[in-house]
Amino acid sequence: MDGGQIIYFVDIGLLASLKFPSHWFENTPQGKFSLSMAFVQSKYYVDSLSENTKRGLRQKVRMGIFPSQAPVGYLNDSRTKTIVVEKKKSKIVRLAFERYVKGNQRLEDIAEFLAKSGVTTRTGKRISKTKASFILSNPFYIGLFKYGSELHEGKHEPIISKKLFDEAQEMLKFRGQPERKPQNEPQPFCGLISCASCGMMITGEHKFKRQKNGNVHEYTYYRCTKKSKNIKCSEMSLRSEKLDEQLSSLIKLVSLPKDWAEELLKMAEKDFKNSAQSNFAGVKDKEEKVSSLSKKLERLLNGYLDQVVDEQDYRLEKGKLLSEKKSIEEEISTFSHKQNNWLAPFKNWVKEAQNLNGIARDTDLFAKKVCAKEIFGSNLLLGEKLVRASAPKILNSFGKFGGNPWDALRASRILASKKPMSSLMVGTTGFEPVTPAM
Ligand SMILES: [Zn+2]
Repeated sequence: MDGGQIIYFVDIGLLASLKFPSHWFENTPQGKFSLSMAFVQSKYYVDSLSENTKRGLRQKVRMGIFPSQAPVGYLNDSRTKTIVVEKKKSKIVRLAFERYVKGNQRLEDIAEFLAKSGVTTRTGKRISKTKASFILSNPFYIGLFKYGSELHEGKHEPIISKKLFDEAQEMLKFRGQPERKPQNEPQPFCGLISCASCGMMITGEHKFKRQKNGNVHEYTYYRCTKKSKNIKCSEMSLRSEKLDEQLSSLIKLVSLPKDWAEELLKMAEKDFKNSAQSNFAGVKDKEEKVSSLSKKLERLLNGYLDQVVDEQDYRLEKGKLLSEKKSIEEEISTFSHKQNNWLAPFKNWVKEAQNLNGIARDTDLFAKKVCAKEIFGSNLLLGEKLVRASAPKILNSFGKFGGNPWDALRASRILASKKPMSSLMVGTTGFEPVTPAM
């Protein structure tokens, strides 16, 4: 457009002549002819440059390299033209995910955490709430990447697990619901306990109460949200201090006695020696699934190239298949890892289970909630101003001990409190990672 206009200006005499160090054009037919040629040439140069750049980018994408600036936690290695993990910052990003999935932090808190840890945007600005949400939903961190609104498999090293990523997506969805008004600061034990009468969630509120003599009392209490449409709930509220006391004693009840811990560790060591040979059938099965998914992806691409599948369907379906493939690949790696490496996590668990008394005494209510959530899951009920845990589900459909180790421990402690010590039986199957039996 500019070229045409310049020639027009020369035509009507608005421009007398154009002079450059290497070229010059006069207002003559020859002058205007060579000026037009110069424009045509530069147009061709720019067009083919952009075509080559696009081709180069597509080539990179096909090789699994994100053809753009690496996100926080990664660096563009200009030497190898690949994207590499930035050790320090990737750890902070992982911590941000882990903090967020616990559910007691807002996006603002995550942004604050990133700022405090020295993570900024590429231009050195503070990470905003929106940017934090972008980071928490970027599939780049699990080894995929989005380019041209399509999901691709990346060659770069993932820094968080697919499982953690999925949890973060659920939390983003859950916390992003518009009906969650932040009118009252979230209280530590919110979302942990359900109402024994109507099954709705127990929520917390912070209140100020002014007495006649001018003293102001501040307190937090927990109550049923009473949102059930079928049951008219008449449960009363409970002061935070009381709830804390009751929860603490529930946690204490689960803690692992020292003599049990010693016996468990002995048995685990023995089991570990015996289970050297591992079961590869599960892994093989999963590997077959991965290869069938790869085949599906290939067929999908062919369908798209043959114009049998339209572009929107292609992208949607490809995203789904890639996500599934990633999950199974991760299962394979944790499975083969677990097979040889369950003893250390088990020892950690024993230690943790022995430390519950300390956590019960702790004043950090959020830490207590995280702990209670892990032990009791969604089994905590509040009714008639008392918190209780519904019985652990430990028998699976095969009639064997199942559930998580906390369920098994709770069941065992309940059993132990009912029977004389001499009749306590210890399971003969021992401690495999998936079915901790007692
Ligand atoms: Zn209720």
